[in-house]
Parts: sequence; structure tokens; C-alpha cells
Amino acid sequence: MATTITTTNPYNNAPLKTYALNTNKEIALILEQAQTTQHKWQATKIKVRTKLLKKLKHALLNEKETLGSLVTQEMGKPISQSIAEIEKCAWLCDFYRKNTEDFLADALIKTDAHESFISYDPLGVILGVMPWNYPFWQVFRFAVPTLMAGNTTLLKHASNVTGCALAIQQLFETAGFPKGCLQTVLADHQQVENLIEDHRVKAVSLTGSELAGRKIAEIAGRNLKKCVLELGGNNACIVLADADLNTHLDTMVSARMQNTGQSCIAAKRFIVEAPIYEAFLEKFKHKVAELKIGDPNDPDTQIGVMARIDLAETLQKQVEESVKLGATIAYGNTRKEAFYQPTILTNVSSEMPVFNEETFGPVAAIIKAENAQEAYALNAATRFGLGTMVFTENTHAALNNTDYIEDGAYFINDMVKSDPRLPFGGTKASGYGRELSQEGIFAFVNKKTVYLK
Ligand code: NDP
Repeated sequence: MATTITTTNPYNNAPLKTYALNTNKEIALILEQAQTTQHKWQATKIKVRTKLLKKLKHALLNEKETLGSLVTQEMGKPISQSIAEIEKCAWLCDFYRKNTEDFLADALIKTDAHESFISYDPLGVILGVMPWNYPFWQVFRFAVPTLMAGNTTLLKHASNVTGCALAIQQLFETAGFPKGCLQTVLADHQQVENLIEDHRVKAVSLTGSELAGRKIAEIAGRNLKKCVLELGGNNACIVLADADLNTHLDTMVSARMQNTGQSCIAAKRFIVEAPIYEAFLEKFKHKVAELKIGDPNDPDTQIGVMARIDLAETLQKQVEESVKLGATIAYGNTRKEAFYQPTILTNVSSEMPVFNEETFGPVAAIIKAENAQEAYALNAATRFGLGTMVFTENTHAALNNTDYIEDGAYFINDMVKSDPRLPFGGTKASGYGRELSQEGIFAFVNKKTVYLK
């Protein structure tokens, strides 16, 4: 069994650093610390907790270049996007600094009691199992609201971004969060399972693959523990015949190619109404060809490398299998190690992997729909339910369709994106539970009914 993790730069395959996995004894101490701190942290006034977010925000912004560079080294994200990710974490800190007190205020409810209300209490120690694709953002959007609610957190980050995990812990400590509020555990899967089973861990939040979700949910379920699952997606971008391509095409390309296509909420299937299909394809191809591919450390680079060679290999298999089933490569499709050229596939049908599986990289599947009704039906023909985007000038009709969208999000004339002010999460195989906004802070609280006759 492995006892170390070695991180590797996916751009040049150079090993970055080797870390020892925590021993079971070390994990026991970490857990004990998390619990001891939690008792004191719960008793700390909300004002004191939120004040630390100001320091955390400044620590992030002061170090955004260094932190961004660490992201780029470990998972190949173009540096300008890595720095933007750090800035977004600072925004999140600001949001919860301003709103936590209101979010957690007792909610009075009129009944026949003299007084009755809901009090929001923390649950205790919460485990976060996090992915590598947005190695700072995913952790911050889990940890900040969870901590503000009075819980403490354990972070089991994806092993390929271990440097980011330790940097995040350091940031919280530098900002003055008591030791034990956020601790990284360098753990293998068995140790994670043991943690979920431990009575001191009260709940778990996972962002990652469907497979990991099923595993974590199974262990949590066996132990009657709550979990929030933010899993894969297979979002459609519906382009209706009246869509304004000149205005929205850049957004549509970003929706697929941002973060080199490695985003759960990316547009993976472009479902285009027949009358606009040829024009869309031509313009989309043109825009994709203009993307600047290169060294992720170059501030102008828009497409770097994927985070690991095995992820690029998986994507290649999905494309090859789809081509065997009749898809056509309309653009791109060269691969070298972790680099995958932005790729466009046409003649895509619903039995192909690029239609019915999550493609986690820069591959766009284009599907022609005869009319809007068929476009919406194709959109719904997936096991996933993270989000739908539609581009149309008839926003009234698009809004009228809201009730028929089964996903966690429905964006009209914009790409599906996360925003601290709005709930974020999925349905079906994309998981359950919500992050961000007031929902995110409610994810790990005991909503206690208090009744005074
Ligand atoms: P995983 O889901 O395997 O990894 C995500 C996190 O879960 C990591 O911290 C990983 O740890 C951990 N993990 C996975 N399985 C277990 C387990 N049985 N017990 C405990 N922890 C576990 O993602 P991959 O890196 O393998 O990526 C594969 C695919 O997942 C992608 O191609 C994409 O489809 C999807 N994905 C979706 C994401 C999203 O944002 N929804 C993010 C990342 C991936 P470790 O690194 O140690 O294995």
C-alpha cells in the first residue's frame, strides 16, 4: 500500500514534491484536535468568526500570484484562470463575512406557543472530500460556510493537488482561525472510509466523480450520516434558431473550454436547432480555432493541459468510441500526454459516450435538433442533472419552460456558473444537497425547533 503521494506537473511531467501520507495515529490526533477546537469554536461569537474572513480574503489576495502558480503547477490550469480562481475565493469570503449573521439568526415562527423559533446549531466535525479541478474554489465553497456555521472541517483533497491542500490550511491559520478549524488529512481511501465511520465525524461533503459519490454515500448511509454530493454533469447548451450568436458565442465557447474543459458545470452537449445549425457550427469552429493553446504559465494561454495523463486517455477513449458509433471529428482531436487539443464532434447521437457520459476535457459534442421541443427533450435525455443553458431571444418562452427543467440550474443567455449568492448543486446522478448562498450554510446545521409554551 502506498505511503507517499508524489505530485507531478502535467505540463512537463516533472515531479513536484513527495508527501508522506498520514499514519492512522496522526489522523487520530488530527481528529481529536478538530473535535476539541469545534467545542470552543461553536461558543465563539459569529461576529468574531466572520471577522476572520476579512483576514482570509486579504491573505488570498496578497498571495494570489503565488497561489495561482501553485494551482498551475499541480493541475495545469492556465495561470490567468488560476489567479481568477483565487480572486473568486476572496469574493466568497466577503459574501459570508457580510451575510452569516443574518443567515444564522433564529427564525421566529408564529404558533400557539408563547414563543417558537428555529435555532441553527453546528453539527460538529465535517469531512470534505474535494477534487483537483478547482483546487481552491471547491474547498473554499465547502469550508467557509461550514466553518461560519460553527463546525470544524477536515480536508481530504485530491492527491494530485496536495500542495494546494496544505497551502489552504496555511492560509486559514495565517488568517487567525484557531488550529483545528481546517486541517488537511493526507489519507488513502481506506483511511477516508475509517474517518466517515468515526462517531466524531458528523457529516461529509464530496465534490468529484459519480463513482466516488456512490462509494462515499454508501459509507455515509451505512453510518446514518448526512452527505452533500456534488458530482459530475452533462450539461446541455441549447442554441435555438433565434439565438444571437454574435453576442453569445464567446460565452458558449467558454462554457465548454474554460479550465481546459474540466468543469462539472461545463456545456458538454451543444443542442442546436436546425435552422441555425450550419451558421453555429462554422462560427463555433472559428472561435475554438482562435483559442490560444500553450504553456499554462503564460498569462495569454487559454488552453493548457489536462490535469493528468490518465484523464486525457479516458477522454480519448470516449471520443474514439463515439467515432466508431458514427460521430465525425469536425475539428481537432490530437493528443500528446496530458495535452488534448480542443475538439468538436458532429453527427452525435444519444447512444455515444460523448452524449451519455460526462466528458471532462475540451471536447464539444454538437447535436442537431429539428425544433425547440426536440432540443429540450434531448437536453433531458441524460442521467445527470447539474444544469441547462439555453440561448434564445425569446426569453419569455424560455422562462415559461422553467418547470420542465429537472436540473439544479437553468441559465438563459448565459453559461451555468457558480455564484456565492446563489444555491449550487444537482439532481439525478449529479448528486444532492446544495452549496453556496444561505443553503450552503444550512447544509451542515441542526435546525433545532425551540418551543416555549
Ligand atoms: P474522483 O472522484 O476519483 O476524485 C475526487 C476526490 O474523491 C479526490 O479527493 C479523491 O481522492 C476522492 N476519492 C475518490 N474515490 C474515493 C473513495 N473511494 N474513498 C475516498 N475518497 C475518494 O475523481 P478523478 O480524479 O478520478 O476524476 C475522474 C472523473 O471524475 C473526471 O473525469 C470527472 O468526470 C469527474 N470529476 C468531477 C468533478 C466535479 O467537479 N464534479 C471533479 C473531479 C472529477 P484521490 O485523489 O486520493 O483518489
